[in-house]
Amino acid sequence: EDRVSHRANSIKPSPTLAVSARAAKLKAAGQDILSLSAGEPDFDTPDFIKNAAIEALNAGFTKYTAVSGTPGLRQAIADKFKRENGLEYSLDQILVSCGCKHSIYNLMQATLNPGDEVIIPAPYWVSYPDMAKLAGAEAVIIKTGISQEFKISPEQLRAAITDKTRMLVLNSPANPTGAYYSQDELAALGEVLIDYPHVLIASDDIYEHILWAEEAFHNIVNACPALYERTIVLNGVSKAYSMTGWRIGYAAGAKPIIEAMEKIQSQSTSNPTSIAQVATQAALEGDQTFVSQIRNIFQERHDLILEGLNNIQGIRCAPAGGTFYIFPNCKDIIEQSSQVQNDLQFAEYLLEEGNVAVVPGSAFGAPGYLRLSFACSMDHIREGLKRMEAAVNKLL
Ligand code: PLP
Repeated sequence: EDRVSHRANSIKPSPTLAVSARAAKLKAAGQDILSLSAGEPDFDTPDFIKNAAIEALNAGFTKYTAVSGTPGLRQAIADKFKRENGLEYSLDQILVSCGCKHSIYNLMQATLNPGDEVIIPAPYWVSYPDMAKLAGAEAVIIKTGISQEFKISPEQLRAAITDKTRMLVLNSPANPTGAYYSQDELAALGEVLIDYPHVLIASDDIYEHILWAEEAFHNIVNACPALYERTIVLNGVSKAYSMTGWRIGYAAGAKPIIEAMEKIQSQSTSNPTSIAQVATQAALEGDQTFVSQIRNIFQERHDLILEGLNNIQGIRCAPAGGTFYIFPNCKDIIEQSSQVQNDLQFAEYLLEEGNVAVVPGSAFGAPGYLRLSFACSMDHIREGLKRMEAAVNKLL
C-alpha cells in the first residue's frame, strides 16, 4: 500500500490484541471459546476511584490540564515513589501520560536516534521492539529460556552492550513470563551498567504490585542507586487498580529527559484525560486494600494454573513470581506431534480443536512457549486446563 509510510509499514499490529480479537470473533459467531489471553485484570475499578471521577465530572473538571499532569496528581505520584519505592522525585521530574504504554513511547521518541541500539531481554512485552523501531532505533534481543528462569545474566548483558547501545529495557515482574528479578540479581546487572555510562535504563514497573515472590518489590535504582540519573521509571494504575480503560501511566527520571518527553507529548496528545487524572490521584492516595486483595487472588490462581499445566503431558512450566501470566514450555509436544510444527500452530490447534485461546510464545520472541493469562475466575482456569489437556491428549 503506497499511501502508507515506511514507518507504518515497518511495524506490526500488537499480536496479543490480535489473539483476543480473533477469540472474540469466534465467540460472536457462536463458538464456545474460552480465552486465556486477557491482558487486563478481570475486576471492576474500585468504587472510591470511580466516585472521584464522577465528582470531578460533576464539578466541571472537564478542561485541558497542564500537559505533564495536574500538580495534585504529580504530587501523589511523587509521594507514592517515596512511600513505596524509597525514591525521591520533584514534580518536574514526573510526566503523566495516557497509559504506561504512552509513557514508554514518549521515552523512546525522546531519547533514541536512528542507528541506536535498544537492548530488550526476551521473552519481551510485544510493544518494546516496535516502539524502538518507530523511533528509528534497532532492537537487540537477549534470549532467555526456562532454564535461566527467563532472566538475563550479567554476562549476557555485558556481551550485548556496544558503543551504539542507548537503552536497556527492564520489566520485572515481566509480561509474558511473570519472572521477577531479586535485588541481588538487579545489583549484579547494575554493576555491569555502571561501566557503560552511555546506556539509559527503562524500568517498566507496571506489575510492581502483582507480586508474591519472597522478596518485596525492588527496581534497579533500589538495587543500584548510582543509576538514578540514567534510569527512567515507568509505571501506571492500569494493572494494580484495574484501571486499564482510564489510560493513565507515568514516568519519572532526570529532568532533561522528562522535559523532552513532555515536549513530544505536547505535540501529540497534550494532557491525559482530566477526570482520569483525578481518579488516579484518588487511587494513589486512598486505601490500598484493593491492591493486596487482588494480589492474593492472582497468587491463588497462579498456584492452580501452575499445577494444572505441569500435569499436562509434554508441558513444563516454571512458577511465576508475579503478574497474571504464565509461560509454559511446549517444546516436547511440538517435537513429539506430527500435527503441529511450532508454537503458532499449537496455539492455532488449541483454538480450533480445544476452543481455548492462548498467545503463542513467538509473539514475545520466544518460540516453543505459550502465554496463558489467569486474569479470570478459578472455574474459568479449571475449564481452560481441562480443554487444554483433552486437546493435548488427542495430539500425542
Ligand atoms: N508494560 C507492560 C509490560 C505491559 O504488559 C503493559 C500492558 O499490557 C503496559 C506496559 C501498558 O500498560 P498501560 O495500560 O498502562 O498502557
